[in-house]
Amino acid sequence: MKITIEESKQRKTKPQRGEPLGFGKYFSDHMFVMDWSMDQGFHDARIIPYGNLSMDPASMVLHYAQETFEGLKAYRAKDGRILLFRPDMNAKRFINSNRRLCMAEVSEADFIEAIRALVEFEQDWVPDEAGTSLYIRPFMFASEAAVGVHPAKSYKFVIILSPVGAYYPQGVNPVKIYVEDEYVRATKGGTGFAKCGGNYASSIAAQMKAEKLGYTQVLWLDGVERKYVEEVGTMNVMFKINGEIVTAPCDGTVLPGVTRDSILTLLREWGYTIKEEHLAIDDLMAAARCGQLEEAWGTGTAAVISPIGELNYKGEITTIHQFKTGPLTQRLYDTLTGIQWGDIEDTHGWVYDVMKNKPKI
Ligand SMILES: *Cc1c(COP(=O)(O)O)cnc(C)c1O
Repeated sequence: MKITIEESKQRKTKPQRGEPLGFGKYFSDHMFVMDWSMDQGFHDARIIPYGNLSMDPASMVLHYAQETFEGLKAYRAKDGRILLFRPDMNAKRFINSNRRLCMAEVSEADFIEAIRALVEFEQDWVPDEAGTSLYIRPFMFASEAAVGVHPAKSYKFVIILSPVGAYYPQGVNPVKIYVEDEYVRATKGGTGFAKCGGNYASSIAAQMKAEKLGYTQVLWLDGVERKYVEEVGTMNVMFKINGEIVTAPCDGTVLPGVTRDSILTLLREWGYTIKEEHLAIDDLMAAARCGQLEEAWGTGTAAVISPIGELNYKGEITTIHQFKTGPLTQRLYDTLTGIQWGDIEDTHGWVYDVMKNKPKI
């Protein structure tokens, strides 16, 4: 993959130091774009000024939602290094998502190099204040202009970058979760394991309902019986029950999170028993009632770990760990963020140095 570069002549003013960055509010000066067509395959890899994409109103993505995306971050270590966290996992998941939606597949090597090259080019955009990072959003969509459902004959692969602040400016704090027993996110045979925009479009109604009731996120139940626990909002979910860790298996309806996999790896090393099982919501509420539900948290790139302080299932409200962040939740947060920012030694080969991996020519 040969990447051409067109420099932006009008650089943006970067957010001031100390100014809250929020999440997904600011975007860097450049973006990566690469096209795919039936006869040329992937071609024209380029870093160009960040700006509008021009598209035909018949572009298939606008009608049939053939779109997939990824999300990862670049972290600034104290010694100045710029680090990615397990980008190979995002590359593999992107391939799986695209395969499910019958889209072109970017090779693992090209996916990682496109991100690496763009982040290197935009390195001044990687913030260095505590808890901040550069959020990386790769995505692909059907660009063929046609009406009629079929796999598109052309796609665009794009990467944009957004400096983001600490997800919890006041530190890690528990959230209130509404157990959704009407709407569903995914069913077996559907697209629950793929990171595609369509999954999110259909989840907004539940999110709105939860927010109206004063909750931050929903806990999704399985799409067939609405009986088993699957995910929380846009995160995987884990429970500590009687000393053991329970989480839904990745068997088609759950998004295989990079954070989920990393947290489970740490927990196994720390000697915890992990049960990747279908946990019935009734059993979870029963465990809460008799004091066996010790901690609960969501996992995902944006928040890393989000402690759950309250669950509402059909009007029954249970408080977890006195609505405070539990000790295991805190230890996981500290350890994983420590590895990601390069403060804790990386014994797993998870950390990817953007400059060290520059291809030699
Ligand atoms: C992206 C995502 C996650 C978290 O995945 P990470 O790789 O840990 O960021 C979990 N659930 C859903 C539905 C997601 O889209």
